[in-house]
Amino acid sequence: MLTYNKEKAKKMTYKDQKTDHLEKKILNEAPFSSLSYIRDAIDNKHISLEAFYETLFNQLEQKDAAIDGFLTVYKNQALSQAKELDHLHHTNPKAFKDLGALAGLPIAIKDNIHIKGEKTTCASLMLDDFVAPFDATVIKKLKDAGMIFVGKTNMDEFAMGSTCETSAYKATKNPWDTSCTPGGSSGGSAAVVAADILPVSLGSDTGGSIRQPAAFCGISGLKPTYGTVSRYGLVAFASSLDQIGPLARRCDDLASIYKAISGSDTHDATTVKTSANETGLNQKIEGKTFAVPSTFIETLSEEMQTQFEKNIKELERFGATCKPVRIDSFDAAVATYYILAPAEASSNLSRFDGVRFTKRAQADQLSEMIKSTRGNYFGDEVQRRIILGTYVLSAGYYDAYYNTALKARSFIKQELAQILQTHDAILCPTTPSPSFELGSKQDPLELYMCDTATIPANISGFPALSIPSGLVTKRPVGIQFIGKPFDDYKLLDLGCHYQEKTPYHLAVSPLGLGETS
Ligand code: GLN
Repeated sequence: MLTYNKEKAKKMTYKDQKTDHLEKKILNEAPFSSLSYIRDAIDNKHISLEAFYETLFNQLEQKDAAIDGFLTVYKNQALSQAKELDHLHHTNPKAFKDLGALAGLPIAIKDNIHIKGEKTTCASLMLDDFVAPFDATVIKKLKDAGMIFVGKTNMDEFAMGSTCETSAYKATKNPWDTSCTPGGSSGGSAAVVAADILPVSLGSDTGGSIRQPAAFCGISGLKPTYGTVSRYGLVAFASSLDQIGPLARRCDDLASIYKAISGSDTHDATTVKTSANETGLNQKIEGKTFAVPSTFIETLSEEMQTQFEKNIKELERFGATCKPVRIDSFDAAVATYYILAPAEASSNLSRFDGVRFTKRAQADQLSEMIKSTRGNYFGDEVQRRIILGTYVLSAGYYDAYYNTALKARSFIKQELAQILQTHDAILCPTTPSPSFELGSKQDPLELYMCDTATIPANISGFPALSIPSGLVTKRPVGIQFIGKPFDDYKLLDLGCHYQEKTPYHLAVSPLGLGETS
């Protein structure tokens, strides 16, 4: 299985790696930073689950006041589940052990995934009082594994955005610098992990919404191969692009959660029978060949290029070959995405009409009621996407826009597949820049460009992993590996090896260290 040398990691410092910043801000013994630390502590009865969760919620209250990562917190339920499990641990240790490696461990859930009986708001006024009538398949699987849900996390409204600022409720802040965005749309899920409130969370990724916030917050995130994780119970944004995936500090934790949530599902016809290939693990970096999209790298700032070159040198020192390759998909992806995603969104969001299960505005005429409901309760970005999507699907423009985008999609898929025939992965910085100040980007197009490097994996359906790779202008950045379909575990294993040899994932944000003032 996936390897991770905890002892070695504990001793590591930034100084060992000759990197410049944060010599002091390195993780030593932090039970909230990894599933295995908590597992050890619980199994060896160093701490009861109840005591662990008391501490977790105390820290959550303090830290979340500074970052606004959660929309809902399930303190009472979590504490009573913890108590029950403690009882089982004492009275029947074998039954406790049989529950499996994730039993009793905490996870946070993005607020567009249904937990039965709890609110799913998608950070939208439209679903402000909506209570989920069923469990998403991923939630059912995590419940079966005995995980404890800590709360629902903030996000961009209906997962449309890159900063968490389109949330109808509040903007989440980046634990590294609370004047900056944690990224989006799964910004809440990234921020609460980066603040070491808990080790793992679930997000969703349609164009980069797991990987971009992971990179901005200095943690790891996986966008799985399309079809390996069920979307049943995920509120749809763009169904042919959406995937649920995990965020965590460490790649072995991503792997544990991915293993628990993946698999085919009769409720989602797009799930595939073939599961991600677990064989071929222990993928050492040595001997691997990575394709680097040269034209994308040329567009980056000098600081971003310098840090990325450092990461490349490192990988080469570990035995990999990194080759510059011209990849046109990186130039075509954003334009293609902003036809396809709004088109699908305009269709998916037509269900919010005030008639069925959502908010309803008062009006005398049906058409007025629908218009006011959608006008009052959808935010600006969501309305922009619906208008754009309706336009590109309209009779006169369908061929010019939507069909052309579908052709571009086939091109992107073919080009990436071809490159991945001769390379183990495509490697690039996850984002064009580190995080930026909240409110500093007002032009939607500027924000859309945040996803230049992440969108190709959604358009093709291929798996992609972002892992922390250092700091640029004192803010975290990440590198991304895009692999062939079903190479999810291979990418995760490469990530584990990288994290064994480098300290970037252990760098802790000031908030993670408990500096809440
Ligand atoms: N930032 C992109 C968008 O706004 C991606 C969002 C996502 O992956 N959910 O569409």
